[in-house]
Amino acid sequence: MSFTHAIILSVLAAPEPADLIVLNANVLTMDAKHPAAEAFAVRAGRFASVGSNTEIKALAGAKTRVLDFDGKTIVPGFIDAHAHPRPLYDEDSRYYEIDAGPDKVKTLDDLVAAIRRKASKTPKGKLITGFGYQETKLGRHPTRQDLDKATTDHPVVITHSSGHLSVCNSVALELAKVTRNTEDPKGGEFQRDEKGEPTGLLKERAAGLVRSAASRLEAPESEKVEGYRTCLRNFLARGLTGVHVAGTDPEGARLLTLARGKECPVRLYIMLREDYLDQAVKLKREMAADEWGVRYGAIKSFYGNSLSGQTAWLYKPYANQEDYFGIAPGRSRASLDALVLRIHKAGLQSCIHSNGDREIDVVLDAYEAALKEVPRANHRHRIEHCSVVNEAILKRIKDLGLVIAPHSYIYEHGDKMENFGSARWDWMHPNRSLIEQGTVVAGNSDYPISAAVPLLRMHDMVNRTSAEGKVYGPKQRCTVEQALRAFTLGSAYAEFGEEQKGSIEAGKLADFVVLDRDPQKVDAKAIKDIVVLRTVIGGETVYEKR
Ligand SMILES: [Zn+2]
Repeated sequence: MSFTHAIILSVLAAPEPADLIVLNANVLTMDAKHPAAEAFAVRAGRFASVGSNTEIKALAGAKTRVLDFDGKTIVPGFIDAHAHPRPLYDEDSRYYEIDAGPDKVKTLDDLVAAIRRKASKTPKGKLITGFGYQETKLGRHPTRQDLDKATTDHPVVITHSSGHLSVCNSVALELAKVTRNTEDPKGGEFQRDEKGEPTGLLKERAAGLVRSAASRLEAPESEKVEGYRTCLRNFLARGLTGVHVAGTDPEGARLLTLARGKECPVRLYIMLREDYLDQAVKLKREMAADEWGVRYGAIKSFYGNSLSGQTAWLYKPYANQEDYFGIAPGRSRASLDALVLRIHKAGLQSCIHSNGDREIDVVLDAYEAALKEVPRANHRHRIEHCSVVNEAILKRIKDLGLVIAPHSYIYEHGDKMENFGSARWDWMHPNRSLIEQGTVVAGNSDYPISAAVPLLRMHDMVNRTSAEGKVYGPKQRCTVEQALRAFTLGSAYAEFGEEQKGSIEAGKLADFVVLDRDPQKVDAKAIKDIVVLRTVIGGETVYEKR
């Protein structure tokens, strides 16, 4: 061997210095083989090595950045497997939507005042929208007469926190030509008073009909992109390094991609809505194999209604109404079967929104038929929410090898469980049963239905306690470890990404979060109070708490 050869070989053998080393941390890797570590090194955006302080220090070179975390806890970046990012505008902008959630709107008077404020800035005739009211917190659903007090010059549609119900004013009903003689649309309902007059409460498809009849003020593209960026930045501040966008069109995906940019590189997994199946095939095909920024390959569709809106279709009646089983989905079984088969044959992943037990069985039938016709082992087809189950449904899910993204929002929406009856609570949001039977659970918020705050959602999985302090279905309480896994490896698996992310392991993308406390060591009641100190994507800090 010549002298030069020896030098080349020694250079090859010595590991290249790391770009970043992290020392003195309590690293919860989520890697089953090495669950704990104190340090790791990052090179070219990926974890290069995970181990002890001594091992990792040896990888430092002259240009290596060193972060010493003084015992703080580090976990893999959180991934929200079902969220609806939307442009957020502040109230100076003419495009903002009224925040009707319980933090801002505590009474019906607050709601009327908020609509009045917005009306004073909105051209006459243009639609005013709001989101997030909770009838359980307001005492009842608002009526059209309530909203008429705010304006008779604008159509107003205020959407319930479920996203599946809205209440509108009289102008909005007029524009949509809805009167006492209008028939309910299939899969929807115009609520009526005892005289048969529409009350303004719109369920499921009825809400969309009224909203689309009004003309709205469209924000220019630049403002929309900035609005989406605000939303993505909020995600980063909560420790989210990845989000599955639960249904959008190619235009929404384009705006989100623009908003992402270099500044807030949240990794996106996009579910296109079913009308864009061909585009999804094309976008997936064109995607580079190493594309972990914005990925395609999933289709979002619906078979079923809302849990917190109490429209989900059930086998047994709701507890508060003997003869009410929810609203049967407007879609036929045959059309669902055909859709699922198309998605499956196209090699895409199917993600179907379904809540009630009676809805879920129809979805399971469709998956069963498609898999029988074209068997495929690694399909990872999903049910989104899957809220009310029974033993037979759990078994079918396991046998079909489905991935489930259940709700974990009892903290905000515990009171919505009341009308399902206490006998059902241990069979709702079945996180624990699914995990224990080996089904992959993907952690998610369904933002804006509940807050895109992974630590609050994990708190929910562990405690199942409402903000008011009531426990709903304690049998489905998860361990902290199970909750952490759902929001990391579980969600990564749900997007075919578990070999790239979801744990802190050499070779994976260097996405991680620094926490002020260890979720496994704090009191279970305090998990929601843990603070995200820093969020890192691909080895770059993208959020730091000041
Ligand atoms: Zn959703």
